[in-house]
Amino acid sequence: MTKYANTHITISSITQKILTLDVQQRPQIEACGILLGSIDSQGNWHAEQAQPLRNRYNSAVYFEFEPEELLEAELRYPGQIIGVYHSHPTGYAEASSTDRENMKRVNTEQDIPWVWLILRGPFQQHAHQELVATAIMAYHHDAKQGLQKVHILLENPSNTDRADSPLGEK
Ligand SMILES: [Zn+2]
Repeated sequence: MTKYANTHITISSITQKILTLDVQQRPQIEACGILLGSIDSQGNWHAEQAQPLRNRYNSAVYFEFEPEELLEAELRYPGQIIGVYHSHPTGYAEASSTDRENMKRVNTEQDIPWVWLILRGPFQQHAHQELVATAIMAYHHDAKQGLQKVHILLENPSNTDRADSPLGEK
């Protein structure tokens, strides 16, 4: 069993919107991209923005970035890439063995502190579904403790954009 780490990821409401739109715009393949934001002194991730990237394999069960596109993003957002997201349109509810290998390689061998978000389908095109905490998973491979699940905090929309979210509080 994967244990929960003591760290968490906070996902801004704009990031939630970007991820939701992305998985609904390409519901048949693994949508993927990068998370932009910061990591605090306790090691918690704060995803402020997301940037969808191409899945070079257009596959429903696999994703890989175009290396040039990732490099371009690294140059455009220096020090701001805090993680990666991808979708499982098949509904597979945990990290695949390929995902786990990637997490271990990047987090421990390459020593890059990315958090990994997985959005679980199935997705309907333009369904305007909300991102819900039960359909999203976060992971990080800790050098000492191994693969850890990371708690997810979904930020509520601020008052300035509450018109988009009639079901939100106030
Ligand atoms: Zn996966």
